[in-house]
Amino acid sequence: MPERQMPTNTNRDAAAMPGAQAATPSGWQLFRGEILHFLDDPGPATEGEAAHAFVHHADGGLLLENGVVRRCGAWAEVAPTAPAGTSSVDYSGRLILPGFVDTHIHYPQTDIIASPGRGLLDWLDRYAFPAERRFGDPAVAQEAAEFFCDELLRNGTTTALVFGTVHPQSVDALFSVALRRGLRIVTGKVMMDRNCPEFLRDTAQSSFDDSKRLIERWQGVGRLGYAITPRFAATSTEEQLAVAGALAREFPAVPVHSHVAENTAEVALIRELYPRSRSYLDVYDHYGLLKPHSVYAHGIYLDGNDRRRMAESATALSFCPSSNLFLGSGLLDLREVIDSGVRVGIGSDVGGGTSFSLLRTLGAAYQVAHLNGYLMSPLQAFYLATLAGAQALGLEAQIGNFAAGKEADFIVLDPAATPLLARRMATAQSLAERLFLWMTLGDDRAVAASHVMGKPQWTRA
Ligand SMILES: [Zn+2]
Repeated sequence: MPERQMPTNTNRDAAAMPGAQAATPSGWQLFRGEILHFLDDPGPATEGEAAHAFVHHADGGLLLENGVVRRCGAWAEVAPTAPAGTSSVDYSGRLILPGFVDTHIHYPQTDIIASPGRGLLDWLDRYAFPAERRFGDPAVAQEAAEFFCDELLRNGTTTALVFGTVHPQSVDALFSVALRRGLRIVTGKVMMDRNCPEFLRDTAQSSFDDSKRLIERWQGVGRLGYAITPRFAATSTEEQLAVAGALAREFPAVPVHSHVAENTAEVALIRELYPRSRSYLDVYDHYGLLKPHSVYAHGIYLDGNDRRRMAESATALSFCPSSNLFLGSGLLDLREVIDSGVRVGIGSDVGGGTSFSLLRTLGAAYQVAHLNGYLMSPLQAFYLATLAGAQALGLEAQIGNFAAGKEADFIVLDPAATPLLARRMATAQSLAERLFLWMTLGDDRAVAASHVMGKPQWTRA
């Protein structure tokens, strides 16, 4: 059941927004605007051919009760069904979409975003590890978690799968902040007992004990979920991967979140460390770490066998194009991954990625796919950032689109957020064209509002 007791809204702009009170005494809310959500993967098809995969209302109505979708349809059909006392907000001229789902991001790396490195391993040593050291201090973690959640909402991200640090207190801090805001956050304590600085090292036993305690404290509290989080195979001993597997078996509903096959030097290192494994992914498979709703970031250097194993184990891949470009990691062959039946979501991978904005990340995804000869349709891009992300995390029964009964996390996109966007939008003919403009020219400025279970948790002034 979704958490119905929503925390107090602390966003001053949102609270001041006329007509945007979270709930009337009746708990019913009605929103008007252009509405788009997805039922399936539109693939590379054109708007007309992909009509089965999405729902679009040029003048739509979204009716909620206590933050849950009751009806979504044409305004003329939905509005008359709203009970007396329903509060109403008019977003006409803007696009209402399900909130974005970021399937891979590191909150402790917020302060090192845009730090140039020679490649993944060098970047971790020079920037990531020193930054993560500070999260042993709960006050540092708390302050960073507040900023991080603000930034997610400013960018339209209402659900995220997040790396903490090795410190359990980093996870307590993020969960506490997310709980207060009603955000759907899945996170976990990093497990890391070798090939990293002494000051960030746990042990197989302590990582097991700490992770288990955190699962028991947080899994299923409000809208929160835990993820077993070995950083990557190079920073865990075989003993630690074995205890991660033991946790995965003991808690069947708890997914695994890690990295795989991001960079050629990293892949070579894994081959050295695990000479008996057939492939990098096979290391995780050996320890029972491929399981439904688990997410591995990157996967640029997987082979056909790996993709088959991911598909059959319902393990998802997080495509992080801005990070892959920034760190010079490589170009994921998106078509190959999708054709293999692997679930795919979009990940910002901040701070290796260069933006919290999934709009900008979709723009990068289009370019990376293009370089591999695949023209990703804008409809498919927005599907990846919404319903596909929910499916990757196994949360499609709760979020991802506006089917009746789902939790109403949604965002409002502004077609006139910048002068250039407004000018270009004026000549756009179709929905697909307008989506393409948002993902190519848009960023946080295009997000007019982010609602969490109906409540405006972010509103652009
Ligand atoms: Zn990452």
